[in-house]
Amino acid sequence: MNQMSMRFLSKIENEPFVRTSVVAFLMPLNPSVEEIMEIKTIIAEAVTNAIIHGYDQQDDKEIYVSVSYTQNRQISIYIEDQGCGIADIDLAMQPLYTSKKHLERSGMGMTIMNTFSDSFHIESVLGEGCKVYIKKQLHEELCNIR
Ligand code: ATP
Ligand code: MG
Repeated sequence: MNQMSMRFLSKIENEPFVRTSVVAFLMPLNPSVEEIMEIKTIIAEAVTNAIIHGYDQQDDKEIYVSVSYTQNRQISIYIEDQGCGIADIDLAMQPLYTSKKHLERSGMGMTIMNTFSDSFHIESVLGEGCKVYIKKQLHEELCNIR
């Protein structure tokens, strides 16, 4: 088992840093290019949601991300904000639902995160924030082809 966590300000310019840091942490597992792309997308969508929706783009708030993996290549990702929270999680999870149409969001972030995860779970209390729990099982490591 290995674990890391990071806490960072809710600035949109921090999102690429977090996404690449998480991928760098997972490098010992030698994930496939496809798995790296999926994990980057999950982190990008969740962190962007925390900034755009949770904190309504206030850039002086905090986001917490924790990632761990087990010997059998099971990855757990946890993303937390202390923003406005979600009133109706089932509605928020629906494809194409967005509360920010005027910002030209497509309402696909949650659906994409769910698709790229083996388990995707959200907890939220209105006015207290949002906790996103994700599990992803990496495929067996391919043998190096020489
Ligand atoms: P897209 O991700 O396609 O740009 P979107 O962010 O609106 O659009 P989703 O990521 O699927 O779509 O999120 C759906 C809705 O869930 C959001 O519009 C917002 O209302 C709510 N939501 C998602 N994450 C949070 C969060 N961390 N805090 C508060 N509300 C959230
Ligand atoms: Mg989104």
